[in-house]
Order: sequence, then C-alpha cells, then structure tokens
Amino acid sequence: MAFKVLILGGTAEGRLLAERLAHDARFDSLLSYAGRTASLAPPDVPHRVGGFGGVAGLAEFLQRGGFAALMDLTHPFAARISANAVEAARIAGTPLVVLERATWQQLPADRWIEVADMAEAARALGSEPRRVFLTIGRLELQAFEAAPQHQYLIRAVDAFALPSALPRARLLSARGPFQVAGECALLEREGIELLVSKNSGTPATYAKIEAARLLRLPVVMVQRPPMPACARGDARGFAQAQRVQTLDAALAWLETLHGAGSSRRGE
Ligand code: NAP
Repeated sequence: MAFKVLILGGTAEGRLLAERLAHDARFDSLLSYAGRTASLAPPDVPHRVGGFGGVAGLAEFLQRGGFAALMDLTHPFAARISANAVEAARIAGTPLVVLERATWQQLPADRWIEVADMAEAARALGSEPRRVFLTIGRLELQAFEAAPQHQYLIRAVDAFALPSALPRARLLSARGPFQVAGECALLEREGIELLVSKNSGTPATYAKIEAARLLRLPVVMVQRPPMPACARGDARGFAQAQRVQTLDAALAWLETLHGAGSSRRGE
C-alpha cells in the first residue's frame, strides 16, 4: 500500500523533496502551496494550491486523505502554517517533520545590522534618504511606509502595484537563484547603499549577502520569527514531531518512518 506524504512547500526544498519522492514507488506524495505566487511555475509532481482552513482544516485534510506523514518544508518566515502543522499533526496523530534550515551567519567582513522585525528594519534605515535594496517579498512592505523618504528597489517574484505611500519605490520582478556577479552588478548599477533581507538561510538567495560583503555594504538582517515550541523539539511538545536541518535528514526521517511501518505491516 502506498505511503501517503503531505509536503507543505512554497520553497525550493519542498519542490526538490516532492520531485525525489515522485520517483520513489514507496511513496505517494502531495506538495502543497499556499497560492501566494501568481506566477507559480507548476511542478511536474502531484500538487495542490490554497490554504486548508486553519488547524482544523489541515487536521481533517490529513485524516481524510489517510496521510502517514506530514513534512513541513515551508519558509522559515511562514510561522503560522508551521504552528498549524504542529497542532494539526497532533490532532490527526500524524508524524511530523519540520525542516528548519540553518540561519546565515555573519562573517568578519559582513556589516550586518540585526533587527527583530520589519518595523525595526524600517527604523534602522535612518532618517536621511538612502538607496535601499529591499528583498523581503511583497506582504510586509507596509512597515516601510513609516520611512517613505528612501529610494527603494524592491525585488519580488511577482509584479504588483506598489503602495502609493512609497512614492520613491521601484519594482524589480525576478525569481532566484541569483549569482554573486549578477548581484554585484545590480547593486553597483543601482547605486545601492544598504540592503534589507530576511535571514532565511536559503542558498538560492545568499548571493546578495555575498555581494554586499564584497562591496562593503551594510545589510539590515531581519531575524526569524519564533517557531512553535514543539517544532523546536520542546519536550512538552508533540512527541511525534521532529526538527531537522537538512533535506537529507528529512528524507532519512521519512525512510525510518516508512521502515517502521513496513515491519509493523510485515512487509
Ligand atoms: P503563513 O503566514 O505561515 O501562513 C498563512 C496561511 O497560508 C496559513 O495559515 C495557511 O492557510 C496558508 N499556507 C501557508 N503555507 C501553505 C502551504 N504550503 N500550503 C497550504 N496553505 C498554506 O505563510 P506565509 O508567510 O504567507 O507564506 C506562504 C507560503 O509562501 C508558504 O508556503 C511559504 O513556504 C512560502 N514563502 C514564504 C516566504 C515568507 O517570507 N513568508 C518566503 C518564501 C516563500 P490556512 O490556515 O487556510 O491553512
């Protein structure tokens, strides 16, 4: 019998995992997207798009679908779905693994200004108008409306209408992965003085951090939101939830789970 796996995605790792499982006859996997990206390049694997309707909706989806495993490979800043996943997995009794990528670490040549959230990031830009490269996506731009004096170059996957409260903003619509040489050229061409980035730890977008290091530019680095306690392996949390740092470790977790199920089934 196929071992059904629900992958919460919206990341390069989610897609990669789904592609790997699609070639493994032991698993029957479904990749889930929130539906935030209008220009989603449809993956060549079974997938679905849209929210589940909170914790209860996700728990029901897991139970009705007969999923044997839930894999949270969402972005580290997608805190709500990760919290929902922990709770829904607990309700449904579905084993859960959470991929929590390592954060980027500041190197001696980096000039980071570490901040807790977007509001603090906007304040960290200072009062003097500056040319800022903003790579935080589209959903949290509102925080920068408190600092409209800056010239923002906003890079996002989808094109969208810029808020009128940011009169000096321009949009650059592009999808990673990006390369260091291209990032250096962009920063120099645009006369960028400062970058704002989330500490996502994503390899595909690290080139801008390397480029800033090479050009000696400061980076306002927004720290990750707190994850649900049990996704952090808290002893009080859901016993079947496990946190891993790499895709290979997530796969190993799945293989072990499948193996345990097979021996119970006498396969
Ligand atoms: P969020 O705030 O944690 O989640 C908001 C709601 O979106 C969830 O409650 C859920 O709706 C739905 N949702 C989120 N991820 C989903 C998924 N993979 N499949 C089905 N429904 C999902 O999430 P977010 O920060 O808006 O991010 C949305 C998606 O974009 C995530 O999948 C994430 O991996 C990806 N992403 C986020 C960022 C970022 O910076 N936040 C960056 C790159 C990619 P219901 O409650 O209705 O189930």
